[in-house]
Amino acid sequence: LAMHEAKNLGGNQVFLFEDKLCDVAKQRLEMLQALNHSELDDEFQLYFQAQVDNQDNTIGAEVLLRWFHPTLGLVPPGQFIPVAEEGRQIIKIGLWVMHKAFLQAKAWNEKHGNIKISINISPIQFHEQSFAELVIGLVKFTRVNPSYITLELTESVLIRNTDLALQKIQHLVSLGFNISIDDFGTGYSSLSYLQKLPIHELKIDQSFIRHVPENPDDIAIVESIVRLAQTKNLGIVAEGVETQEQADFIRQQHNEILIQGYFYSKPCPAYEFEQNFLSVPKLQNKPT
Ligand code: C2E
Ligand code: MG
Ligand code: MG
Ligand code: MG
Repeated sequence: LAMHEAKNLGGNQVFLFEDKLCDVAKQRLEMLQALNHSELDDEFQLYFQAQVDNQDNTIGAEVLLRWFHPTLGLVPPGQFIPVAEEGRQIIKIGLWVMHKAFLQAKAWNEKHGNIKISINISPIQFHEQSFAELVIGLVKFTRVNPSYITLELTESVLIRNTDLALQKIQHLVSLGFNISIDDFGTGYSSLSYLQKLPIHELKIDQSFIRHVPENPDDIAIVESIVRLAQTKNLGIVAEGVETQEQADFIRQQHNEILIQGYFYSKPCPAYEFEQNFLSVPKLQNKPT
C-alpha cells in the first residue's frame, strides 16, 4: 500500500520515499543492534513523573524509561520500546525496570511514607508464560510491599487471551498489586473485560485531555470515562495535563482524580523527584 501510494505521487517522489523508508529501517536496525549490546545499568535510567491529588500532594509516580546511548543520544521510549518489543529485548529491559522500580518504591516508602509507583508493562512482557512468577520472584528478592506498586497494562492485553490474562491478573492482585489501564479509551471498544478483571484504576489518555475544556467531543469522552470509573469504583489518573484550565476542568469532573502532566512536573531522575516532590512535608508539597 505504501509503495502504491508513493508511486501515485510520481517518479521522483518514489525515490524520496524509498530513501525515507531506508532511513527508518536503518534506524531500527541500529537501535536493534544497540539494544542487543547495551549495558542496561550504564545506558538506561528510570525517570519519575508525579501523580498529584487535589491537595497538591504527590501520592504516586509513573516510571518512564530513558535510554541514553553513547552515539544515538537520548532515544525516546516511543521509538525504542516498539523495536525492543519486536526483538523481544523488552523482556530483559522490562525485568530490569521492575527490579529498579521495586527497590525505589521500597526505599521511598520507608523514608517518606505512602507513595505508589506505577510501572508500564509491555504486552510482550505480560504474555510471557512466566510473567507472574518473575514478578513474585522480584517481590521476594526486593522485599517490596506489592501494595506500593501499580502495574500499567493496556487494553490490548486484556482483550487477547482473556482467560490466561485473568488468571495472571488475579494472581498478582491477590498478592496486593494494583492494576491500572493505561491509555484508556484508545484501544479496543469492548469494555466487557471491566466486568471480569479486578482492576483498580483507569488512566485517561492524554489525547482526550489535550483539547479540553474547548472541545465538546473530548469533554464528552472525559465525562463518560469518569462516570464509568465512578460506577465501577475505580481510581482515575488524568494524563498529559499541561494547563491550569485543564487541571480545573478535570477537578470539576471529580475531585479525587489524580493529575499527571507537565502542569505539575515533567518526568525527572529519582534524586530530583525525591527533592522536589517527596522531601518536603506533604502539606507544603507545592508544584514547582
Ligand atoms: P505512557 O505510559 O502513556 O506515558 C505517558 C507519556 O506521556 C510519557 O511519555 C510522558 O512523558 C508523557 N507526558 C506526561 N505528561 C505530559 C504532558 O503534560 N504533556 C505531554 N506532551 N506529554 C506528557 P514518554 O516518557 O515519552 O513515554 C512514552 C511511552 O513509552 C509511555 O506512554 C509508555 O507506553 C512507554 N514506556 C515508557 N517507559 C516504559 C517502560 O519502562 N516499559 C514499557 N513497556 N513502556 C514504557
Ligand atoms: Mg503509562
Ligand atoms: Mg498513558
Ligand atoms: Mg501512551
